[in-house]
Amino acid sequence: MNRITTDYLVVGSGIAGLTAALTLATKGRVTVLSKTVLNDGNSARAQGGIAAAVGKDDSPSLHREDTLRAGAGLCEEDSVNVLVKNGADAVRQLDAWGTPFDSGRDGWNLGREGSHSVHRILHVSGDATGAAIMDALLQRAEEHPRIRLLGNTRAVDLVVEEGECIGVSAFYAGKAVLFLARAVILATGGCGQIYRYTTNSPAVTGDGIAMAWRAGAQLRDMEFVQFHPTALAIDANPMFLISEAVRGEGAFLVNDKGDAFMSRVHEWGDLAPRDVVSRAIDSQMRAGRKVYLDATCLGEAFATRFPTIYEHCRKAGIDPSVDWIPVTPATHFVMGGVWTDTFGRSSIPRLFAVGEAACTGVHGANRLASNSLLEGTVYAQRAAQEALTLSAPTILPKRYSMPICSRDEGKEKIWKDELRLLMWEHAGIIRDKEGLQKGLEKLTRLERKVPVTFLECRDMITISRTVMESALWREESRGGHYRKDYPQSSAQWATTRSLMQRGRQDESIVVAGDCT
Ligand SMILES: Cc1cc2nc3c(=O)[nH]c(=O)nc-3n(C[C@H](O)[C@H](O)[C@H](O)COP(=O)(O)OP(=O)(O)OC[C@H]3O[C@@H](n4cnc5c(N)ncnc54)[C@H](O)[C@@H]3O)c2cc1C
Repeated sequence: MNRITTDYLVVGSGIAGLTAALTLATKGRVTVLSKTVLNDGNSARAQGGIAAAVGKDDSPSLHREDTLRAGAGLCEEDSVNVLVKNGADAVRQLDAWGTPFDSGRDGWNLGREGSHSVHRILHVSGDATGAAIMDALLQRAEEHPRIRLLGNTRAVDLVVEEGECIGVSAFYAGKAVLFLARAVILATGGCGQIYRYTTNSPAVTGDGIAMAWRAGAQLRDMEFVQFHPTALAIDANPMFLISEAVRGEGAFLVNDKGDAFMSRVHEWGDLAPRDVVSRAIDSQMRAGRKVYLDATCLGEAFATRFPTIYEHCRKAGIDPSVDWIPVTPATHFVMGGVWTDTFGRSSIPRLFAVGEAACTGVHGANRLASNSLLEGTVYAQRAAQEALTLSAPTILPKRYSMPICSRDEGKEKIWKDELRLLMWEHAGIIRDKEGLQKGLEKLTRLERKVPVTFLECRDMITISRTVMESALWREESRGGHYRKDYPQSSAQWATTRSLMQRGRQDESIVVAGDCT
């Protein structure tokens, strides 16, 4: 098997991967792998913006309060402190790397989103923030003499020898290759594609989290999945997101009878936490109602404030300045992932995880809107700084054989569709013991059908199991995790977070609670 040695290996080229690469490249050679094209992840899809306490009426402590409140008691406080204190520097760094944040005479224009107590969301061209950040980072990385960007390169497994991660096996240019490095930074994003309805990019299938789990790394908080209330209700994969910022500007939800139901559901009305809004929409839909976003109050200003959303709606035959926009909840973000400390270190030496693949604990049970781009930037820089302190490993890989990869996409799609529907029905917005147990049985049957050579589908099954097992384990409702059979949050679970590790037998998963 061919070997390629680099100083630092980054798997994933979203905001987290590229931020890590640019930081690492100050001192060493960096190779970045990306599964398909370089901006195929969720970062380029982000609309609303990036949160940072840079406004005159804002402060890191206010941002901290909002983040902790959204996290419903399960945030790792030290991690949140790191996030909010470094927020301003992180957005200044993105600005210095070429992100053209929208600004006016008084500096950056700041938007407001649900559960933020002040205006603190930096954005670009209204609603094209992720694409603009990615353009800037990619250009910078492409020009950097010490960064090598490899698209169409799928990482398959971590190479762990004597307990340390020293590389990754991957398919590069159609061949099996071993990439060896002194540190591996996993920046493979979340796993939204395990669900039937999702806003996530097709590349976001949880591979990195599955690779880490296989290698014995600890995963955390996998039961906490965020369902965004307002995806455009036109069946597509991925579904198009109608950013929360639209509600931040005054739009509100109505059902097909014109009932603005959110005012009865929560004191913050349409800007209530995402899980509350998603469940409210879900219950309207279960009662046979259709749900819409009424943004007509914005009139013609809609097109200038939200040009990307406007264009997309127009293509679908909807004019948001006069028509209601049909919406439905969709899987959006996973709060859980590979456990890391505040320096991005996983439980395996030399393996770091950053961005949505990681669980730093900043989101707790529910992510505050626009905190994930910030997390991707702040923690990728910290992880990279930490990785720069490592010396080269003295261990060499033993003989390594690569799994065979089947390429029958038609067959794989059938199994993936079965999985995605199963997850939506059994581990979606509303869960209960019976449904989760049935879901796990179906998952086991599916796993028996899918040959191990279908690597991506197998990774999706692995991750789905971690979500369902931990959802079954948490017998309460909190943040993004709602159990119909335990509809309240319980003091007993208030300091307990799930921690999972691969068991001795491949299929068994250890779920352990521990206190934060
Ligand atoms: C529609 C949408 C809108 C959003 N809006 C916002 C917003 O306004 N503000 C905000 O803060 N957050 C937002 N989010 C969330 C945010 O975009 C993501 O959490 C964040 O971009 C994740 O960044 P990342 O770098 O961790 O991963 P991604 O950007 O998802 O990148 C993952 C990378 O990993 C690569 N990869 C995956 N598997 C492999 C493999 N096996 N081998 C090699 N490479 C692999 C992919 O190719 C990709 O390059 C939004 C998400 C969506 C879907």
